[in-house]
Parts: sequence; C-alpha cells; structure tokens
Amino acid sequence: MSIATTNPSTGQVLKSYDPMSAEQIDAAIERADLAYRQLRGTTIEQRAGWMNAAADLLDAERDEIARIMTTEMGKTYAAAKAEVTKCAAACRFYAGHAAAYLADEPADAAAVKARQAFIRYQPIGPVLAVMPWNFPLWQVMRFAAPALMAGNTGLLKHASNVPQTALLLEDLFRRAGFAEGAFTTLLVGSDAVDTILSDPRVRAATLTGSEGAGRSIAQIAGRELKKTVLELGGSDPFVVMPSADLDRAAQVATTARCQNNGQSCIAAKRFIVHTDVFDAFAEKFAAAMAALRVGDPMDDGTDVGPLATERGRDEVNGQVRDAVENGATVLVGGEQPDQDGWWYPPTVVTDLTPEMRMWREEVFGPVAGLFRVSSYEEAIEVANGTSFGLGSNAWTQDPDEQRRFATDLDAGNVFINGMTTSFPELPFGGVKNSGYGRELSALGMREFCNTKTVWVGGDDIGPVGSAGAHAE
Ligand code: NAP
Repeated sequence: MSIATTNPSTGQVLKSYDPMSAEQIDAAIERADLAYRQLRGTTIEQRAGWMNAAADLLDAERDEIARIMTTEMGKTYAAAKAEVTKCAAACRFYAGHAAAYLADEPADAAAVKARQAFIRYQPIGPVLAVMPWNFPLWQVMRFAAPALMAGNTGLLKHASNVPQTALLLEDLFRRAGFAEGAFTTLLVGSDAVDTILSDPRVRAATLTGSEGAGRSIAQIAGRELKKTVLELGGSDPFVVMPSADLDRAAQVATTARCQNNGQSCIAAKRFIVHTDVFDAFAEKFAAAMAALRVGDPMDDGTDVGPLATERGRDEVNGQVRDAVENGATVLVGGEQPDQDGWWYPPTVVTDLTPEMRMWREEVFGPVAGLFRVSSYEEAIEVANGTSFGLGSNAWTQDPDEQRRFATDLDAGNVFINGMTTSFPELPFGGVKNSGYGRELSALGMREFCNTKTVWVGGDDIGPVGSAGAHAE
C-alpha cells in the first residue's frame, strides 16, 4: 500500500510519501533508544509538564488538525474536532494520574519474610505502535499518553493512508517539550514491521487493527519473545429486550452503527431484537437510518461521510451483495452509489442466515444486521456466536436481566442502556479474536511497564515511593 493522503470524498491523491529507507529506520530506532535512556531518568512532574503542553497544543490547533483528519480518512469535521478534544483530555488525564498509577504498591512484608516488600512499575523501552486510520489521533494518543508518562518511548507505524496525521503527532510531542526520539513517526509500509519489531532495541508492540495484522504481529512477537497488546476487530451485539425504551434504543442504535461513517471497532454491528418488539424496533431503526444525511464530511449538517478507502467500500458492498444474493432482505439502503469517492449509504439488512458473510464477519461501514430472537437465552447465543468479543450493548429496564447480561455477554465490555465508548478512566480491550491486553486506565499504562517485585531483608531501605518520582 502506498503511503499517501487520498481524499475519500473524491478519490483524488493529494500527497504521497516515499517510505523510509533501512538506514533511516535504524537511525530512528537508535534515537528512540537513546531518548528512552534519558526519559526514564526524568520525573513524573517533568513528563506531566510536557504532556499538559501537548494537550494545550491540541486544543489550540484543534480545527486545523481536524481538517487534516477529515481530508485523509473522511470522518465528519465535527467528529474530528471532538476526537482532538478527547485526545487533549486523555493527555491531561495521564499527566494527572501517572503518579498514582506508577506509585510503588506495598505488599505484606511479614507474609514474605521481608523487612519490606513492594511492587514497582518501571518503563521498559521503545515500544512499536502499529495503528489504524479510523480514529487516527485517538488510537495513537491512548497508547502514547500513558506510554510516555511511564517513561517509555514510542515508534509509530501509522496506517499508510493517514501520513499527515502521523507526522503531526511526532511534531506535537516534540513541540510540547519531549526530547528528540521520545515519539517518532516511521513512514513505512506493513512489510517493515518484522524488521522493526525484531530489532533488540524495540521492546514491545501494540497493534490496533484487523485480525490478520494481529496474527502477523503476534507471530513475530512470539518468535522474538516480546510483549504485545492487540486491539483487533469486533462485531458488537446490540440486544434489545421487551422492556427497553425503544425510541431511545433506536436512536442510539443509529449513532452506534453509523458513528465514524460506520468504521469503528466498537460500533454496534449486529442488532439482536426480541420478537415481542422486533417489528416496532425495526420500523423506528430503519426510519432513523434512512433520515441520516450523507454528504460532504466538512459540512456541519452531515451525519455520514464516505468510507476511508476504496478497498473498504468494496468489502462492505461485497458483504451486502452476498447477503442479498442468499435471500436477505434490505430494509434501507443497500445500493452503492455511482459517483466519485467511496460512498456507501446507511443500510439495514434482515433475514440473515449463518452461511452469509454478514452473519460471521465484521462489517466496517454503515450497515446494520437485524436479528430476531425469541428469548434471553437465544439472544445470548446469537450475541456470543461470533469469533469476536470486543464490546457489547444490551437494552433492558429489567434489573435482573441487566445483571445477567453483564455476566453472560462474552466481550471486553458491556454497556447497558447506552452506547459503547472508551474513557481514559476505564480499561478497553477484547476477548477471543478481538485481541488481548488492555488499553486505558491504570491497566493500559502498566501493560508496557516492568512490574518489578522488590523484596528487602535486613535494614529498611526507606519509605515506599515510585520509580518515576526520582531519577533512576
Ligand atoms: P489493518 O489493515 O489491520 O491496518 C491497521 C494497521 O496495521 C495499519 O498500520 C496497517 O498498515 C498495519 N498492518 C496491516 N497488515 C499488517 C501486517 N500483516 N503486519 C503488520 N502490520 C500490518 O486494519 P484496517 O482494516 O485498516 O482497520 C480496521 C480494523 O481495525 C478493523 O478490524 C477494526 O475493528 C480494527 N480496529 C480495532 C480497534 C480496537 O481498539 N480493537 C480500534 C480501531 C480499529 P498499512 O496501512 O500500511 O497496511
């Protein structure tokens, strides 16, 4: 895949870049390694100062950054601006919480026959981040903010269709005050990932992307015995039970499916509706999907812009065609328009059967599959009946059902009567083929820390503190 900005609204290539040479990659890794040796010796307060400065830059430059994102991958300008603001908040969150998250944790010294025993969290070194285009700023920031605050350095291999966003991230951290090499963008294709991750100076990798990319990186990391966090695809269920507030559920379902032009890993993709309310929900949902405004993502009134790539649009169209050819019913949309750019309309498809691609595959576009079930047990069976387990939603006013859904949905998160989203305060990640490890919260920060056990016999070494509170 060439490294280029191509406007998805028109299909026009606006800017292309040569991939970095082997020598340039080696030099970048060397700078990341040197920067790590320097960064791990700084205090949390110093790093927090730089991270807060990054947040201020994001706020100050929000509109221009958002414009670049919209031009590169087609999300609405309004959504892009909200993404920049969310990133600034995450920078401030980790600047403010790093001291608590990295503080030494005292253990029961007597139980382990020590004078003192505790757990210390320390950085591990340069971490490779392989990132997707769909939230081109947020996906990177939720790795970068905790990683840099912990004292690690970051090497970003961003998706090949968002090079300008990738470059502005490196520039942002440098201008915020982080040393040269603390955060580096590598303009490389996915074929360079093996070489980079195999380099002994690179200590770990995080990938957000497809299942195929996850398997590939996990294989390399397995061979090299390196830690990985994998945030992969999802086909989130959105279950609607008879006691649900149907008007609210249908409205939120529309946003949950079509946010980011339908290209979110945690978008609700399979709408599993109890037969008692199926017809009523289907009518409201189809009407709300049909009412969405598709158009220029820079316009304030637009709800849904183009898909990010031609390949992605063809994939979605292929999945819908497969369903229709095998007997599914289209309630709304379902026809690829004949125009420049990579457009696909909000679509609702029902009468799906297990042999159809839409039953088992992730659909990365504004296309909803509607499933009818006749009991709680059947709802759980359909909801859990895919290889994915990222997010999940259940709509019910029944407290007993709410408790059961929280336990029975086989996913990394369960949102009851609300849409799945991510918060810096809460862990984020999946089970099954949606990946492993967690981002965000304290857990995300510690994924790339050495969780070090310290056992002290003899004289006490003084009060427990934290690795980042003093230079190493
Ligand atoms: P993708 O093709 O896997 O691309 C993601 C990143 O991985 C890009 O930087 C890509 O580089 C790189 N890559 C692709 N194949 C690779 C390989 N074999 N080895 C090493 N790197 C490789 O994903 P996508 O289709 O663009 O993005 C959509 C997918 O990401 C969906 O499945 C979505 O659900 C998932 N996603 C998951 C989360 C989450 O948090 N779980 C969040 C967002 C998206 P190139 O661009 O150069 O190919």
